[in-house]
Amino acid sequence: MIPYGRQDISQADIDAVVEVLRSDYLTQGPMVPRFEQALAAYCGVRHGIAVNSATSALHIACKALGLGPGDWLWTSPVTFVASANCALYCGAQVDFVDIDARTGNLSVQALEQKLEEARRTGRLPKVVVPVHLSGQPCEMEPIRSLGEKYGFQIIEDASHAVGGRYRGEPIGNCRYSDITVFSFHPVKIITTAEGGMAMTQDAGLAASMSLLRSHGITRDPGQMTHEPDGPWYYQQVQLGYNYRMTELQAALGLSQMHRIDDYVARRHAIADRYDRLLAGLPLTMPWRQPDGYSGLHLYVVRLHLGGSTRRHREVFEAMRARGIGVNLHYIPVHTQPFYRGLGFAAGDYPEAERYYTEAMSLPMFPALTDAGQDEVVAALGEALAS
Ligand SMILES: *Cc1c(COP(=O)(O)O)cnc(C)c1O
Repeated sequence: MIPYGRQDISQADIDAVVEVLRSDYLTQGPMVPRFEQALAAYCGVRHGIAVNSATSALHIACKALGLGPGDWLWTSPVTFVASANCALYCGAQVDFVDIDARTGNLSVQALEQKLEEARRTGRLPKVVVPVHLSGQPCEMEPIRSLGEKYGFQIIEDASHAVGGRYRGEPIGNCRYSDITVFSFHPVKIITTAEGGMAMTQDAGLAASMSLLRSHGITRDPGQMTHEPDGPWYYQQVQLGYNYRMTELQAALGLSQMHRIDDYVARRHAIADRYDRLLAGLPLTMPWRQPDGYSGLHLYVVRLHLGGSTRRHREVFEAMRARGIGVNLHYIPVHTQPFYRGLGFAAGDYPEAERYYTEAMSLPMFPALTDAGQDEVVAALGEALAS
């Protein structure tokens, strides 16, 4: 089976993890801060808060921004469920903004229209979560302008996008957002097995997220209500969680980090080759924004099947039967049973739903060979012709 995504582990990665296993600290040692500082420096941002998943990062990001009961968070329906669930963890409510058919990202035009309506009905969002689908940056500059006009804060869900750039600058620098979140799940650009990081320029948000990551406990006398009782002393000053990343994970992440640029360059070479090999097939290849450099976590084609969901399914089945692990990113979140239970219904976001009837993620990972890619293209050609 050729999977749609797969980690790349080098001997240096293995050595880095083994070295931690032999060291004094498996958690709360020196590797986590080293990984945080290295990735923050790479992104050109002041703070990085490493956690055990991007889902946790989204949760503490929402908390740090003060999202709570009575508040709204808006995101794209074409994303992993975590981008929306984070609001519900905080007791806030979720709403969605339909996608731009060309990029699959949240549509700035739809966002603006919805904001205008929400202003009239008094339901403006406190937080908007643009998701850089496939690694392609959202139009952050206009989204930030809308944030200033309508008073919302921004968390970039950049789970697909580490190593990408927007207008020449690294994604994660938070020029147009309050917080940017990365995921290091094995299918993503770099991995720590499980893991994530929240980047921010704001020292207050960084301090708040650090507290939330570890039970709301501080050992910093400056954050305590009185002088420490003694050298053992700590205070719990908030209700936090155990969302810590281990030293093993941080060592792996730090080692992987040295290859981010190579990984993303390799993904671009694979995408360029797909673009050439797929020309002529009845499908739309992924659009690449001229002002962005995608992380290219995914290579999503849209099949031209005259709207037939049966044909869509048959093409998937044919590909899987030939050992090509194609996938679908994503099932629109609002159509999930849990979200239907909150009142969402089919038809709410037509562009997202149309995307779902056409999209297919082809294998995309650094170790994908030309021969493997040829096999994918041949299988797809046959599946579409049959
Ligand atoms: C993978 C992913 C997440 C969640 O990441 P975890 O690290 O697995 O929690 C969130 N949002 C998007 C868009 C993702 O692709």
